Amino acid sequence: MVRVFIALGANLGEPRAALAEAQARLRPLGVAPLRRARLYRSAPVGPPGQPPYYNTALEVETALLPDDLLAVLKQIEATMGRTPGERWGPRVIDLDIALYGGLVLDTPELTIPHRELANRAFVLAPLCDLAADLEVPGRGATLAALLEALPRTPGDLEVVEHAVQDVRAAPIPR
Ligand code: AMP
Repeated sequence: MVRVFIALGANLGEPRAALAEAQARLRPLGVAPLRRARLYRSAPVGPPGQPPYYNTALEVETALLPDDLLAVLKQIEATMGRTPGERWGPRVIDLDIALYGGLVLDTPELTIPHRELANRAFVLAPLCDLAADLEVPGRGATLAALLEALPRTPGDLEVVEHAVQDVRAAPIPR
């Protein structure tokens, strides 16, 4: 089993419901959620006039290899109605592999740690909720240090749900 951090974002329809649905779709596909970061609302990146994003992150464990995990995330995005479209455009759900154990990988399909990880407060802040002291593979810095180093604008990121949640499946009662 590998400990993986998945970054989630949504800004169309019912973003909070979409985040919950994506989380629920992971386990049957071999990705077990352990903890969920706080929920954030962030200003959209990219074309103007988009609704705000809701962002969070999940700590999960999985036996899937990175390519297979990416395929699972894309499958969930497709099932939930995301059509490949404009880069940075609005989306029902966006699921990215932020960190995959200690792996550093750069292929045409997959960059791990995620390419934008160190540039995006809406990715780093939820990850810090879960593992602030984790040293980012290949970066020589912790998640907390990367977030601290980011230039920020007031109001760029707002916490909407203040608790980190234990989201391991409850044992089935006898
Ligand atoms: P996006 O539009 O942000 O969902 O990016 C889609 C593409 O980014 C996917 O088809 C992947 O091939 C590629 N990609 C590269 N690195 C990653 C990563 N760490 N997690 C998810 N997608 C990735």
